[in-house]
Amino acid sequence: MTAQPRYDLHCHSTVSDGTLTPTALVERAASRGVDVLALTDHDEIAGLAEARRAADVAGIEFVDGTELSVSWRDITLHIVGLRIDPHSPALVEGMRQIRSGRLDRARLMAESLARAGIPGAFEGAARFAANVELLSRTHFARFLVEGGHVKEVREVFKRYLTPGKPGYVEHAWASLADATGWIHGAGGQAVLAHPGRYKVNRSGMQALLTEFKERGGDAIEVLTSSHTHAQSEEYASYALRYGFLASCGSDYHGPGESWMDLGDLPPFPPGLHPVWRDWR
Ligand code: AMP
Ligand code: MN
Ligand code: MN
Ligand code: MN
Repeated sequence: MTAQPRYDLHCHSTVSDGTLTPTALVERAASRGVDVLALTDHDEIAGLAEARRAADVAGIEFVDGTELSVSWRDITLHIVGLRIDPHSPALVEGMRQIRSGRLDRARLMAESLARAGIPGAFEGAARFAANVELLSRTHFARFLVEGGHVKEVREVFKRYLTPGKPGYVEHAWASLADATGWIHGAGGQAVLAHPGRYKVNRSGMQALLTEFKERGGDAIEVLTSSHTHAQSEEYASYALRYGFLASCGSDYHGPGESWMDLGDLPPFPPGLHPVWRDWR
């Protein structure tokens, strides 16, 4: 019996809010037994060419990806695009639009933290960002850990940077229709990232899945580091009920910062069709 290839279809490099360069990320994935890796930096494709070269050297399969920030109702969603054409003009322009609001937002986030008694956050966060156009909450989280305000990056979001907490600033990202359309226009598949993380009730989730399906959404992440085992089962049944393919990704951001390392994904619950079903 041949072993099943190991897929990890969601992770981040220094091009967005990861701590490893695209090359180091691919090397780590290969050394951990990943056979097929997608790099999905937030709202950016600038790491894909380097990652693909590294994957060729390491002898693993590489998938061009991105993770788009979307505003839907009163929450932020993430839509992963897989097997996108990184040169698609509409996608490139769409991502530029999404990124363009980040700097102003970061200044407002820093003002909010200053009001809570934490000065210097803009400069502090910027020091962690290789790409200042992509200043994200993760970079602010690293600044808060560095200053001793919180012990670990993954704990930061319980006390800061989320709705109602210091450092949170509402922002209008892309629409669900635009994000899905840009991904499809680039020949890719649109995947709802880490659905268990969204603060919506059951009817809100059903409305989201219905709308995503109507817009041609292809898949949902059933397996992600954001899900408990029970959530993986829950989203497996949603995938079956709504007719979505199933995706899996660690959402790895770097050593010591993530709940799950590259490739550490369990098998899918039975009955699902993987997002790679028709890849060849
Ligand atoms: P931004 O796109 O600037 O809003 O930053 C979002 C990023 O912050 C996500 O991609 C995660 O890396 C991180 N993040 C947000 N919420 C959480 C959370 N609850 N736990 C861990 N990381 C989070
Ligand atoms: Mn991130
Ligand atoms: Mn995400
Ligand atoms: Mn992610």
